[in-house]
Parts: sequence; C-alpha cells; structure tokens
Amino acid sequence: MGVAQEKEEECNRELIMGRYTEANCKICRRNGGKLFLKGDRCLTAKCSFEKRKYPPGIAGANIRRKISEYGRRLKEKQKLRFFYGVSESVISNYFKKADKQKGVTGNNLLFHFEKRLDNIIYRASMASSRKAARQLVMHGHFKLNSRKANIPSIILKEGDEITIKDKSLKLLTPKLNVLKEKGLPAWLAYDEKNKNIKMINSPKREEIDVPVKEQLVVEYYSR
Ligand code: SF4
Repeated sequence: MGVAQEKEEECNRELIMGRYTEANCKICRRNGGKLFLKGDRCLTAKCSFEKRKYPPGIAGANIRRKISEYGRRLKEKQKLRFFYGVSESVISNYFKKADKQKGVTGNNLLFHFEKRLDNIIYRASMASSRKAARQLVMHGHFKLNSRKANIPSIILKEGDEITIKDKSLKLLTPKLNVLKEKGLPAWLAYDEKNKNIKMINSPKREEIDVPVKEQLVVEYYSR
C-alpha cells in the first residue's frame, strides 16, 4: 500500500469514527488547494495555504514527489470529499447514484452535494463554513416544507422551501442581512417576507464553484 493510500485509509477510519482530527489548513496543504474549510479566514491573508503552498511537515517544502495517475485521481476525490465535508461512504454512494442517472456523471455527482440541506444553508450565508452549517441544521434551526429538518444530508428537490424557525430568527437575523448583501446562486431564491429560501431549480454545472476536477473523481471510481 502506497503512502497516499495509507493516508486515505487513516482518514477514512477517523471519519467513520466521527473524529477527523487533522487541522483544516493541513488538509488544504496536503491536497494542494484551498478547500475553504475555515469560513471567513479562508478569504483573508491569514489563510495558511496562501503562505505555504506545500504539504505540511518538516520536509514538506522540499518534497517534489512525482504523482501517479492514480494519485491524481485520489487527490481530486479527497479534495471533493473534504470540500463538502463528507465521509467516504457518502461520496461513494453519491457516485453510484450519479453513474446511474442520465447526463454527465461528474455533473450529477456535484449536483448531489450542492442540493444537500447543509450546503444550501452555507450557500445562503447562514453559516461561514459547511461544518458550521451542518451544526445549525442539526441543532434544529430550520424547517423544510414546514416540517422539522435536522438532517444535514437531506437532498432538496425543485420547489422545496427552507424556513427559519421562529425561535431561531433572533439568532440568524444578522446572517439574513449577509444573505441580502451577498445574494444567492441563481438556482436559489430568498423570500424576505416569509423568511424562506427556495430551491427554484437544480443547479447547472457553471453555477457551482468547486476547486475540483470532477472528471478525475469519476475516473477514480470507474477504475
Ligand atoms: Fe485554512 Fe486557507 Fe484552507 Fe481556509 S482555505 S482551511 S484558511 S488553508
């Protein structure tokens, strides 16, 4: 088993046990790109990746390892997994579903991630990171189509509406102001009167900003 595979196995074990302990910035540096895991800090000069664009560790700056085709695909798959903060079993299940659907498999795979409840809460500026969005959902601050919704992995359909619970309005009002300022992706809409976020249609590939080459992820799972 190569070094990359060993690291992958280790990450999987930790995610399965619910404790991925490696610092977020190290994940970005190990995977060679910004994955925006620390909220607002990622957009500032304090971003570790901006300062050190090489893998963590004492020898990190000097490592110039030639990466295999398998390694490139594994890296993209890992980037996608960490970007959305999901376990290996989730990404693998999404791939199986995406592969069976009509259309481009890579696009279908991304659509599964984008339409998750936690991701939409993040896209709507209710939280500064997907991890924080997941916590808000799990703490029961939202309803989906007027019903309780505390499962971050729920996949929304066209026409679905997320509402902030009355008791959470005070907490989330500052976030609603950010939402109004920043706006939403074209496939989502905010109704200010009813304080709800609606998925008006499925996202298109060009509307999703993700620093991952999804085709390599498809090749990783198709091997
Ligand atoms: Fe850290 Fe920068 Fe990655 Fe954000 S984008 S988690 S600040 S390295």
